Amino acid sequence: MKAITVEPMKPESARYEDFPEPDESEGSILVEAVACGVCGTDVDIVSGNYGWAPPGKSRLVLGHESLGRVIDPGPRSSLKKGDLVVGIVRRPDPVPCPNCAVGEWDMCTNGQYTERGIKEIHGFMSERWRIEPEYAIKVDSSLGILGVLLEPMTVITKALEQVFRAGQRAFWEPKTALVTGAGPIGLLAALRLRANNLDVHVLDRNKTGPKPDLVHAMGATYHTGRALDLDFDPDIIIECTGVGSVIGDSIQKVGSGGIICLTGVGSGGVESRAVGDIAKAAVLKNNLIVGSVNANKRHWYRAGQNLAASDRAWLSRMITRREKPENFQQALVRQPGDVKVIIQFSEV
Ligand SMILES: [Zn+2]
Repeated sequence: MKAITVEPMKPESARYEDFPEPDESEGSILVEAVACGVCGTDVDIVSGNYGWAPPGKSRLVLGHESLGRVIDPGPRSSLKKGDLVVGIVRRPDPVPCPNCAVGEWDMCTNGQYTERGIKEIHGFMSERWRIEPEYAIKVDSSLGILGVLLEPMTVITKALEQVFRAGQRAFWEPKTALVTGAGPIGLLAALRLRANNLDVHVLDRNKTGPKPDLVHAMGATYHTGRALDLDFDPDIIIECTGVGSVIGDSIQKVGSGGIICLTGVGSGGVESRAVGDIAKAAVLKNNLIVGSVNANKRHWYRAGQNLAASDRAWLSRMITRREKPENFQQALVRQPGDVKVIIQFSEV
């Protein structure tokens, strides 16, 4: 079969190449790939900045935003041939740490977890892949290709769970939410906040393209410019840019008792404001800043429900470009108007 592989930490090593069929040790369910979304993590891995091959191997199959069709459900799965599935990305560490021991591998404390397509386990950008029954999530068949958005939805499902759980530390009735960054994660965050009946505002630097329309279509308000210039103080901020200045503005702007959830992963940058000033703003307003990454099985289950409950027409507008596997390099280069780019292996 063919697969998109990379030698981690080696730039320009990615190829679409012949690769052995998935080994039965990788799971008893055999799946035909339908599509795989690409994100910043894939770009980082292909650029040689991140990623680990399986132990003893030099190359890693890329891809963690999966969607596939069951070819053979194997002996111990309730799935049927033809079902659409996505694969959970992270596996608990082998020690395991207390969090992995109770199934909260998203909160792994020793960092020895593994991740498909990222860290020591092959990903899903191959014509066929295998998955263990306990890590396969069935997708509502009416979603079709939109099931490829399930993995990004898990990230938001966890982040919003964190925010609403953390909010219970005090009497809290959030009414307004700000999402910084209108990429796939930011747009899905806004969609779910709207589903929670909040007054939702999305801030992005793009003035044109599909993002303003996608935000308006869900009944939210689109802004460009700085968070500090908004005429309200948000109760919730979901930060999806990872940009230092945007994070600093968010902490300054969030309302009293408000919660900021950081989901973006930036890399350094110059931040002129002193950390002490930012901390002072957070202290005087009783703010909570919570980081959130990855998702556990509870979030995957809920994300499947959340996606199935979402407007199909709106979701389909989020997938702005589809590339063939042999053109995967084009999928990894950001183009104007891109929201979610997917690599499509077969028809749904
Ligand atoms: Zn762990």
